[in-house]
Amino acid sequence: MSEKGILVVVSGFAGSGKGTLMKMLLNQYDSYALSISATTRSPRPGEEDGREYFFKTLEEFQEMIEQGEFIEYAQYVNHYYGTPKAYVKSQLETGKDVILEIEMQGALQVKKQFPETLLLFVTPPSAAILYERLTGRGTEDKETITLRMARAIEESKGIEQYDYLIVNDKLEECAAQMHAVIQNEHARTFRKKTLINTIREGLTDFSEGAE
Ligand code: 5GP
Repeated sequence: MSEKGILVVVSGFAGSGKGTLMKMLLNQYDSYALSISATTRSPRPGEEDGREYFFKTLEEFQEMIEQGEFIEYAQYVNHYYGTPKAYVKSQLETGKDVILEIEMQGALQVKKQFPETLLLFVTPPSAAILYERLTGRGTEDKETITLRMARAIEESKGIEQYDYLIVNDKLEECAAQMHAVIQNEHARTFRKKTLINTIREGLTDFSEGAE
């Protein structure tokens, strides 16, 4: 039997490029599954229900909370975002590493519930580049950008609670680094219980056979 997948949480400032990074990682490797969150915010141009997010009304979202359908949920800049349980659980069972691209409050809730979660924080190389990316995107109004920058200041205070800080300068290098970090994580002994038991049993069988 193979080991279960790793639950990987990726957070980062709005404008850190983590969305593009996740797409690249998923295109390049088939060992990952990306969880699709529910949100009360409206779709941006080009976004589709069930692909980027499950878009919900506030009432629908509250109903999901009451039914215990979320692993975690949080409010971010006037909207709710939450991770549905079922998909994450089933993908981990099949051995996939499941990536949750979520903000900090949610990330810390997940870590508390599942201490073996790997927490990664993505940042652009500098604050100036962050601001440039956020304004260059052209999908947000000025007020939202101001709110998101204020949120970035708050989130910067919690970076040390993450296991790794990944600097997103060149996208491809960053994706390769993230993959390497996750792959190394698979080698941790506490994630290798099945293999360790198999080796132990094999050794016992072998020595008994040799007697
Ligand atoms: P956006 O509106 O730009 O798509 O996302 C805003 C923020 O919400 C991002 O930091 C994103 O990572 C976070 N987010 C997306 N889905 C979830 C979720 O299911 N739970 C939490 N806690 N945050 C989420």
